[in-house]
Amino acid sequence: MSQPHTTAVLDEIRLPGFTGTVHLPGEAGYDETRRSLNPAVDSRPALVAEAYGPGDVRSALLAARAHGVPFAVQATGHGTHTACDGGILVRTSPMASVLVDPARRVAKVGPGARWGEVIAAAAPFGLAPLSGSAPSVGATGYTLGGGLGWLARKHGFAADSVLRAEVLLADGRHVTASPESHPELFWALRGGGGGFGVVTSLEFRLHPVREVFSGFAYFPIEAAARTLTAYRDWIEDAPDEISTALVFKRMADDEQVPAQVRGRHVVMLKVLYAGAAGQARRLLAPLYRAAGPALLDETRPTTYAASAMGGTPNRHMDMFDTVPDAVVSSLVRAAERAQTVEIRHWGGAMGRPGADAGPVSHRSTALSVIVDTVVPGLAEELRPYANGGTFLNFLADPARTAAAYTAANYARLRDVKRAYDPDGFFRIGHVVTP
Ligand SMILES: Cc1cc2nc3c(=O)[nH]c(=O)nc-3n(C[C@H](O)[C@H](O)[C@H](O)COP(=O)(O)OP(=O)(O)OC[C@H]3O[C@@H](n4cnc5c(N)ncnc54)[C@H](O)[C@@H]3O)c2cc1C
Repeated sequence: MSQPHTTAVLDEIRLPGFTGTVHLPGEAGYDETRRSLNPAVDSRPALVAEAYGPGDVRSALLAARAHGVPFAVQATGHGTHTACDGGILVRTSPMASVLVDPARRVAKVGPGARWGEVIAAAAPFGLAPLSGSAPSVGATGYTLGGGLGWLARKHGFAADSVLRAEVLLADGRHVTASPESHPELFWALRGGGGGFGVVTSLEFRLHPVREVFSGFAYFPIEAAARTLTAYRDWIEDAPDEISTALVFKRMADDEQVPAQVRGRHVVMLKVLYAGAAGQARRLLAPLYRAAGPALLDETRPTTYAASAMGGTPNRHMDMFDTVPDAVVSSLVRAAERAQTVEIRHWGGAMGRPGADAGPVSHRSTALSVIVDTVVPGLAEELRPYANGGTFLNFLADPARTAAAYTAANYARLRDVKRAYDPDGFFRIGHVVTP
C-alpha cells in the first residue's frame, strides 16, 4: 500500500513536509513507479517519492542529502540509463501541468508533462512545440538533453527555444534561470542535461505550424544503394521545412502490417514537411525516382499532432558531416544483418543557433545513423568517416556524456557544475562531472 501525505517513511529516512505519495519496496505502486523503459536498468531505490509540487521535490532532495543516499529524478522513464539503488527516486509525473499563452507563443510546463499533452494544448492555436518522435516522452528531460524533433531543421533544437526555468539546486535553493537570472545555469540547462538541478517548471517558445505533409513510403530493399546515394545528393539542397529519414527495415510478418509490405525487407522513407502537399511531392520527386515505384505510400496532408513519426531502438549510433561512398556501402551491407538501419538528415536551423545558444554541440552534423543490432565490424568500418560526436538524447552510455559536446562547451559545463553542484550531488544519468 502506498502512503499518501506521510512524513515518516522509514525509520531511517524521513521526508519532512512531503505531501505526495511514497512507495516502498514490496508495495504495489513501487514497481510501477520505479520502472524505466530501459530493460537493462532495474532500479531498486529505498523509496519512490511521487511529488505533487516543487516543495515535495525539495523535501525529497533534502532527505537524500541528510541521509547521504543517491538521488534521481524520473518523469516518464524514457531516458533512464542508470539505476538509483538504495536512494530516493523522485517521480515528477503528477506535476504535469501545461499552460499555453497563444499571444506570446509560449508554453509553461510542469516537469511531468509529456509532449503529447503539450502538442494537444498548443494545436488549437496553430502552434506546436519542438517535440520528437514519441508523444510519450517527457518535455523537460527531452529539452534538457537538447531535443531533436521533426521541426528541428526549421526551428532548431528544443533547447534553443527555452526562455526560462525554475530550478531546485543541490543545496535546496529554488532559483529562476533565465538570461537575466543565473545566466550561466540558464546556458547549461539548454542542452547540458539534468545534472545541474531539478527543473520544476520550464518555459519555452512554441512555433506556428499549420499545414503538414507527413508519413512513410516503402520501396523494395533492392533500391537501398541507389536510394541512399541519391539521398546523399538530395539533402544538399533540401529546404529547412522538410525533415526526412531513410530506414532499411525488416517489416514484421503480422496482420497489423499492411499486406503490401508485410514480412518484407524494405527501404522506408519517413517525411515531415511543414507546408503544402504539392510542394512536398515536388521536393521528394528525385527520391521517388531513385527508389520507386513504391510498394506502399502512406504520405499525406495531416496535422502536426497526428504525425507520429516513431523512433528506432538504438544499439549503435554514428554521426557524419559528409557521407562518402564507403559509408553508403557499409550501411547497405549492414542492412543485411540488422532489423533496422535508420539514416536521418539534420542541419538547417540546428546549425544556426544564434549568439545566445546553450551547450548543444555537433551542430554541423548532416546525417546520423542508428542501427538497432550490434553488427560485427560495422563500428570499425564507419568510425574513420564519422565526426566522433553524439547527441545527448540519443546516447545510452552515460560514461560517454562528454562526446555530446565540443571540448570548449564541455569545459564550460564543468565550470557551471562546479559552481552549482560542487559535490556532484546530481550524479545519476548523463551528468557532467565537476
Ligand atoms: C521512444 C523514444 C523516442 C524518443 N525520441 C526522441 C526524439 O525524437 N528526439 C530526442 O531528442 N530524444 C528522443 N528520445 C530521447 C529522450 O528525449 C530522452 O531519453 C529524455 O531524457 C527523456 O526524458 P524523460 O523525462 O521522458 O525520461 P526520464 O527517464 O523520466 O528522465 C530522463 C532523464 O532526464 C533528466 N530529467 C528528467 N526530468 C528532469 C527534471 N525535472 N529536472 C532535471 N532533470 C530531469 C534526468 O537526468 C533523468 O535521468 C526518445 C526516447 C524514447 C524512449
